[in-house]
Amino acid sequence: MKKQSRRNDSGITKAFRVTDCTRCNNECADDCPVYRFYGTWHPQHLAGRFLREGSTGIDGHRLLWDCVTCGACTEACPFDVPFADFIRELRLGRSDYEPVLEGLVHRYQRMQAVPAASAARRTRATSKNGGKTKIVQERLSWIDASLDVNRTRGIVLFVGCIPFFDVAFGETCGTGPIDSARAAVRILNRLGVSPVILEDERCCGRDLYDIGDRETFVELAGHNVALLKARTIKTVLTLCPECAYTLRETYRELFGTLPFKVMHVTEYIAGHIDKLDIEPTGERLAFHDPCYLARYLGCTQAPRRLLAAATGVAPVEMARHGRETACCGAGSWVNHGPHTRNAVNERIVEAKRAGADGIVTACPKCMIVFHEVNPACAWKQAPVVVNDLLTLVASRLRGEEKRDIR
Ligand code: SF4
Ligand code: SF4
Repeated sequence: MKKQSRRNDSGITKAFRVTDCTRCNNECADDCPVYRFYGTWHPQHLAGRFLREGSTGIDGHRLLWDCVTCGACTEACPFDVPFADFIRELRLGRSDYEPVLEGLVHRYQRMQAVPAASAARRTRATSKNGGKTKIVQERLSWIDASLDVNRTRGIVLFVGCIPFFDVAFGETCGTGPIDSARAAVRILNRLGVSPVILEDERCCGRDLYDIGDRETFVELAGHNVALLKARTIKTVLTLCPECAYTLRETYRELFGTLPFKVMHVTEYIAGHIDKLDIEPTGERLAFHDPCYLARYLGCTQAPRRLLAAATGVAPVEMARHGRETACCGAGSWVNHGPHTRNAVNERIVEAKRAGADGIVTACPKCMIVFHEVNPACAWKQAPVVVNDLLTLVASRLRGEEKRDIR
């Protein structure tokens, strides 16, 4: 695999239309979580410095790694300057970021790029072959006897990094990230779908792509595409919005048109919601739109249909919602800091002001960051509790054992 290097400065300027920035009244800054907290660094600030001093002149610029690639700036820019992509490009060849959990998440993700061990050797954690370590994943142990899954053909439920997130962050989330996977299977089972869960699936590679590790990204993408093609899979549902965007759009940019359709699982369930027998809660809940679901994929109504079905009332809308959503601050697990805490706390305040009893979201990363940054999100006594949409819907299926998911 070829390592991707950064374009030269004039190539970057042209590819990302940096000179299209007219230095308007900084509409891109208003929803930038970095600018909202620090009040200094905003997209135009970085672009201006790049145009004046080139890519070496932006060394140490706060936005370079604090940026969470949420896309709010491009959404707001009257000239559609693709700012998040510009920042992704500037990150190529650099690694001067501060990784969350001392880089544990990125290590999990990079390990998944190691080739799979043969089936005969799966009993060991890793195996050696020709001096090369091969990986044996343990990504199916969460599937218990109550879940109907299959291993051959049909609709794939792409689980992504959730089993690893569950190990790294499970204890801090009110409901562990893997509960969301179990909930998705329960709901799909009620719709008569026995989803395929792939033992050899790998991380989609989004985080590594966004921090400039394109070499590992290409390894992971190549593995996933080969796996899905070999199984002649036609439909892939993902639990994470970032997986959906990456499999649908970024893999297509890399490999051309692919023979399978990719949807976020809420899109699929929303299309069949009338077939579910749901006992609504009556709660007034707000939906926090994950950036990759709402802004990058344009999917804003499907999760609201699920939430309305689960509660029996229309979702409460926070001031910033839909494509104009506010990022939770997770980004690519780098440079979490005061701006991350501020992003979460702003959402809690917005939900409270909107009169919501709680926030519901549909992204494992949002769930983790809400609970990591603001533990009050998981307290039953907290004024605003944050929950996972799939877990909420599954808990309201008539006939399911009712669980208090708060
Ligand atoms: S992508 Fe988000 S965090 Fe990055 S510069 Fe744009 S608004 Fe700010
Ligand atoms: S909104 Fe667009 S044109 Fe205005 S300052 Fe930001 S990048 Fe430049």
